[in-house]
Amino acid sequence: MNEDMEKLISLQKLDSELAGFDQAIARCEADTVKRKQAIQAEQEKLAALKVKIELLTQKQQENQTEHEGANARMKESQNRMLLVQTSREHQALLKEIEDSKKLAKTTEERALQFIEQLEQLGRDAEELAGRCENEAAELAGAQQRNAKEIKRLNAAKKGIDGERAAYAKDVPQELMKRYDKLMLKREGLAVVAVKDSVCTGCHMTLPPQQVNEVIKGDKLNICPTCQRILYYETPAEDEAATPELEEAPLAE
Ligand SMILES: [Zn+2]
Repeated sequence: MNEDMEKLISLQKLDSELAGFDQAIARCEADTVKRKQAIQAEQEKLAALKVKIELLTQKQQENQTEHEGANARMKESQNRMLLVQTSREHQALLKEIEDSKKLAKTTEERALQFIEQLEQLGRDAEELAGRCENEAAELAGAQQRNAKEIKRLNAAKKGIDGERAAYAKDVPQELMKRYDKLMLKREGLAVVAVKDSVCTGCHMTLPPQQVNEVIKGDKLNICPTCQRILYYETPAEDEAATPELEEAPLAE
């Protein structure tokens, strides 16, 4: 295989490794963002719940006032009953008492519902607040872990950057240009192996003549479908068989 090709294969391996590190860094960053968003969503829910509790408490107080008013009116009507003289007045007062009684009963029932609803909302709010607190504590830990991991990944990347530069500087400029262009156009995969006559970049079968040229490897071979740079990779069965061959006694 020609030397430039070997360098390109090494470059591709390093670039794929770098891309892997970048993805891992992105995952760490996304994890922190996701946790923050989840906490924010729950805090917003909690705030909405508190507003609901406040409104309901206000309604509860209004209901209480209405209830006390009905009771007071009922007592007042009952007192006035002692002083009525006509049956018309009597009838009117009876109706007033009946209405006040009805309202007192309705507001009393409502009061029970308010208590129940407020108790439930209170429990919900408490649970949500607890969850927010736990998640905030978890976020702090995760942020530390992620920051540490990102630092480690960046350090590993730096090591590879140096190695990569050493290979890149020896590759002819034209070839390097082609490589960089392919890296951009082909999702970070510019140099690919040919396995079982198939381009592992686009999975198309190559003409036998081209496979032979790739095996020879003395010139630049380009996949006719995806334009990636091709090299030959020994099939896996042969690789597995190699040690056995080496163990076989050699006639000298
Ligand atoms: Zn291809």
